[in-house]
Formats: sequence, C-alpha cells, structure tokens
Amino acid sequence: METILVLAHTAPSNDTAAANRATLTKSSLEAVTIGMSLATQLSAKLTIAVLGANAAVEAASLGESGARLLAVSGDAFTDARYTTDAAAAEALCRAAQASIVLVPSSSRFARIAAGVAHRLGGFVDAHITALSGAEGIEATRWFYRQRVEAVVSRDARPWFLLLDSGTQRPFAAAPTSAAAEQIAVEVPATRTTVTGLRAPSQGAQTIRPDAKMLFVAGAGWTKKQADGQVHSGEAAELILGFLSSTSASLGSSKSLTDQGGDGQPVLPFLSHMNQIGQTGATPRHAKGLSTCCHGEEPHVVGWRFIGDRRAISLDPNCGWTRGKADVVYIADAFAVMSKVNALLAAK
Ligand SMILES: Cc1cc2nc3c(=O)[nH]c(=O)nc-3n(C[C@H](O)[C@H](O)[C@H](O)COP(=O)(O)OP(=O)(O)OC[C@H]3O[C@@H](n4cnc5c(N)ncnc54)[C@H](O)[C@@H]3O)c2cc1C
Repeated sequence: METILVLAHTAPSNDTAAANRATLTKSSLEAVTIGMSLATQLSAKLTIAVLGANAAVEAASLGESGARLLAVSGDAFTDARYTTDAAAAEALCRAAQASIVLVPSSSRFARIAAGVAHRLGGFVDAHITALSGAEGIEATRWFYRQRVEAVVSRDARPWFLLLDSGTQRPFAAAPTSAAAEQIAVEVPATRTTVTGLRAPSQGAQTIRPDAKMLFVAGAGWTKKQADGQVHSGEAAELILGFLSSTSASLGSSKSLTDQGGDGQPVLPFLSHMNQIGQTGATPRHAKGLSTCCHGEEPHVVGWRFIGDRRAISLDPNCGWTRGKADVVYIADAFAVMSKVNALLAAK
C-alpha cells in the first residue's frame, strides 16, 4: 500500500507581501488538495509535512484533511537554503516512510526535490498537472511547449512528483485543534547565510502567477494610431492603471518585448519574462484579456491553460477572431481600456 506525503512550506517571514508572511503558500495548499484526492482514490495513508516559520501552527490549520501532520520549524528553516531545506525534507520523508512524495513546484522546493529523491534512492518527475489511479498512480504532464499531454507511471519508490501550480483548488486551511508532530532535524553545516529577501515592490512586479486574470499587451500599443502618431506614453498609463486596479498579471507578445532591441518605442516595465507563447510562458489564469495583439499561433499556444479568453483588436481578421478567443471586441484598445479604467476607478 502506498504512503503519501505532501511536503508544504510557509512563505518566508520577510516576504514583501505582508499578508503572505509565514502562512502556507498557495501552491502548498494545492498540493494538499491533490494529496487528499489521491489518498482517497488509493485508500492510502496521507501525511502532510510543513517546513518553515510558524510550521506547527500552519500544519494544525490542515487538521480538517484528516492527515497525519508533521512540522519542522526553527530559525535555520525559516528561509529557503538548499542544505537546511534538503535536510528537513529528507527527515520528513523518513519520518513519514513515504512511498509517494507530492511537492509543490515552488522555487524553494523545485531546487531540492531531485537531491532529496537521490538521498532516499528514489525518482523524481517534474511539471505534473494531475494525478489519478486506483490500481497504480498515473501522473499527467505536458511536453513540447504544452502541445502533447502524457501520462507517466513508475515502479520506482519513493517517487517524488513536483506539482505545477494553478492546477488545483487550494485546500481551505482553517485553525483546528489538531497538533502537528515536531520532527527534530540536525542542522547541517551551512556555508550560506540568509541575510534577507530582495524582491521588486508589489507595484513594480507585473508577473503574478496567482492572479485571477492575465492581461496581455501586444505590439499594437506602440504602433502609429489613426492620427499618425505613436502613443506609447498613454499606452503605458492605461496598462499600468488597469494592472493597479485589478492586480492582473501582465503578459506580452513577442513582437512587443522584442522592440527594445530593435530601437522602437518600448514599454519600460516589460521584459522577455512577460512573454507568453511558444518561446515564452504558458501561465494558468481563470481569465485572459489580450489587447493590441494579433493572436498568432506561436503566441496563442501560450494561452493553452487560460479559462475565458477575450481580445480587443482593430483587425476583424486577426487570429483571435478565427476561433482562438471566446469573445473578440473589434475596437480601439486605447478607447476601450480608458473607459474600463474609468469604470474601475469609479468603483
Ligand atoms: C519560432 C517562433 C516562435 C515565436 N514565439 C512567440 C511567442 O512565444 N510569443 C509571441 O507572442 N509570439 C511569438 N512568435 C511571433 C508571433 O508569430 C507573432 O509575430 C507575434 O505574436 C505578433 O505579435 P503582436 O500580435 O503583438 O504584433 P502584430 O502582429 O504587429 O499585431 C499588432 C496588432 O495590434 C492591433 N492594433 C494596433 N493598434 C490597435 C488599437 N489601437 N486597438 C486594438 N488593436 C490594435 C493590430 O490590428 C494588430 O492586429 C514566434 C514566432 C516564431 C517564428
């Protein structure tokens, strides 16, 4: 019989978003959801282990899951660092005697998963989006820029599965009277001292994987408009205004992010990190709004996991109108977004 362990962690205690500090991350809560569902399907034993600041209290908030709860906390484990995180994860896996280890694919855990699997003589797979199975476990992941979906199964144990975020409903954590077992971990010798966390301020950070909505800017924003002029300053104001009222994540077409290198007008807050598509990202958001973008296939393939797709384009023959969006507004995005921003401001 399988023994399933969900490894979860809290956000660093110096996270720039105050509300996140020392609480379970969204991707950890998604891993709890998938762990509970798999344990039910396999009639398997479920353990959930929390690592990080406030770990015991946060583990207790998962009492409703019915799982055995483990925690590792202490100054050495508050912030991400390979040596201490790997030692803690190894100790938790051994305490749980896990055959299946479900790991949220955060930057903190993605870098230790393979090392910990190796220490335990196990195997690791990444980018898992779904798990199912009654007899054996079937893990689903995408290949070839999300064009091919594969189902993977393995006999090797322990089997570590790094779960992509945005694929499950996060477990609703709530305070309970459950008590987590504290697992003692010998702090290994460290060469790295964590002195703090540096991240762009919330206003400057435009890539927000956990946002409900994706807003995509295309090259049209910096093209000559009906009056023969370029209005990139106004474009920047409209885009940033919309992002600040909605906290949407900002994506871009390749053409727009490439423009900086071509010496054309650019939107300074965009980089290649924002690019969506075949050579960019494939984020997961409930809704997406594309503006001034043509909707060509190499771009739209990055929208694979966007739920409701809408586009604003002047071109009635653009790719979006050819079946790639649910709703297309054939309109001037400057006029539409200025009206939308005014309505949002009035709210
Ligand atoms: C190998 C390869 C990989 C690629 N990978 C990617 C990728 O990962 N991501 C990606 O995005 N592209 C990628 N591309 C490029 C892709 O094929 C397109 O060239 C690109 O997506 C076009 O960007 P765009 O629609 O913003 O620009 P354009 O094609 O220039 O379209 C601009 C649009 O804005 C509209 N517009 C202008 N003004 C307004 C206005 N006021 N209101 C409303 N609409 C307006 C125009 O009508 C036009 O439809 C790749 C191409 C190749 C060959």
